[in-house]
Amino acid sequence: MHELSIAEAVIKQLESYAGTHPGCTVKKVTLEVGVVSGIDRSALEFAFPLALEVSTLRKLELEIITIPVSVECLDCRTKSEVEKFMLKCASCSSTHVKICAGRELKIKSMEIEEA
Ligand SMILES: [Zn+2]
Repeated sequence: MHELSIAEAVIKQLESYAGTHPGCTVKKVTLEVGVVSGIDRSALEFAFPLALEVSTLRKLELEIITIPVSVECLDCRTKSEVEKFMLKCASCSSTHVKICAGRELKIKSMEIEEA
């Protein structure tokens, strides 16, 4: 499962943070997942606890923020938020657009507790 390896990669990053900051516990991680990132949110939510079980971070809260698709129109330069499969300019309806947000997968923030 694609999402499981993503969950493992995220948890590895948090483990390495915890490893270099003794006494700190990572309590919560917030991920930004773009709607056209190719990642299924519910699959990721399912995979996360599985990846957590085999990590050194037993308790970790996961929050996922879904990032909508934004496009920039190459004709009129308008930036607009669009539906997932409707990649066209909201202003002039041109399909000559480039995606400027919605593909991301990143750790937005994490909550650390110091012992
Ligand atoms: Zn346009």
